[in-house]
Amino acid sequence: MTKAEVQPAERAVLDWLAAQRGAMLSLLVKLVNTDGGSYDKAGVDQVGAHLRGFMEAHGIDCETLPNERFGDVVRATVEGGATSTGANSTILLMGHRDTVFPKGEPSRRPFKIENGRAYGPGVADMKAGLVMNAFVLAAFRQEGGAPVPLVGLFTSDEEIGSPSCRPVIEAEARRARAVFNSEPGRPGNGVVTGRKGGVFLRLQITGKAAHAGANLKDGISAIEELARKVIALHALTDLNRGTTINVGLVSGGQTVNTVAPSASAEIDLRFVAPADRAAAMREIERIVQTSFVPGTSAQLEIAGEFLPLVESPHSQALFDHYVDCGGVLDVPVRGEFTGGCADSGFAAATGAPVVCAVGPVGGRAHSPEEYLEVDTLVPRAQTLALSILRLGARA
Ligand SMILES: [Zn+2]
Repeated sequence: MTKAEVQPAERAVLDWLAAQRGAMLSLLVKLVNTDGGSYDKAGVDQVGAHLRGFMEAHGIDCETLPNERFGDVVRATVEGGATSTGANSTILLMGHRDTVFPKGEPSRRPFKIENGRAYGPGVADMKAGLVMNAFVLAAFRQEGGAPVPLVGLFTSDEEIGSPSCRPVIEAEARRARAVFNSEPGRPGNGVVTGRKGGVFLRLQITGKAAHAGANLKDGISAIEELARKVIALHALTDLNRGTTINVGLVSGGQTVNTVAPSASAEIDLRFVAPADRAAAMREIERIVQTSFVPGTSAQLEIAGEFLPLVESPHSQALFDHYVDCGGVLDVPVRGEFTGGCADSGFAAATGAPVVCAVGPVGGRAHSPEEYLEVDTLVPRAQTLALSILRLGARA
């Protein structure tokens, strides 16, 4: 495919974005310095209010889809192109407003820039992506509308598995001809073309209490059962296949001189292909139902789940398109696979073409060292904008 030079109509959108670097940083400071852990509804909604304020000031239609427990969803739209409302009609820009950090984190370490890197809670994961999406929507609104209708979803609970936002994401993805998720880009202009799926499981084991000195033989140790189950569960890991099991939390027992009447564990299962999930779950169930210590019983429940971002031909074509657009702008893009999960898996499972991690580049997410490469804000916004322009031209 030949890379068409940037056309004058495209240039207007790209130039508008290039002039917004300072404004992007101003909005980013506001978002990073606002509390927004997944369970902090008021904080996550305040981040949404900042975004709404920016978008409404730029004439973008916004609606709020209320949620009682977690933050509301902000849904923004920019009209354009054909007015079709069926399948394959929109381009969806996704991002989550919640972070993994506890309340008060922004006041402990507020936004700062040092040596070209910005720091602060959620600066890359994924407040910079939210800023980028808001400015890309604004660019099309400023420059006479989008080539096809654009939908921006600013969701609220990704870091805990999107319990409330998943159906909203799936409904929007079903209508989309392309989905871009603005999770942080990888160093070296990487985007993510595939992700593992993940299941978080809770295991509860019941035994029988007895005095450890006086009548040990009357007891049934739930802790011994747990220990044997952990060894069996970890043996299911198949690195070549990409299936992994990690028992990340354990607890149990009553006192040091009591045979443990109960024990529990939390288990993280990751897999590449949907069929691998079923196979692994069958094996996990078999281990849960096996009493290595006679007389114990066990129960398993699913606490949360992410679907895999499967590398489909549709998504590969969208990735190739994105890479071409980056090439036109001298932003060489590469794709990578990751074991980390994200909302892009829910979107991809509807059949929509998806590229993930198109946000500004950053690293060390979920840690105090999290950073954003400030100079990637504008080029990543421009690459996304040009990808949207040229998807529209194909329509
Ligand atoms: Zn994220």
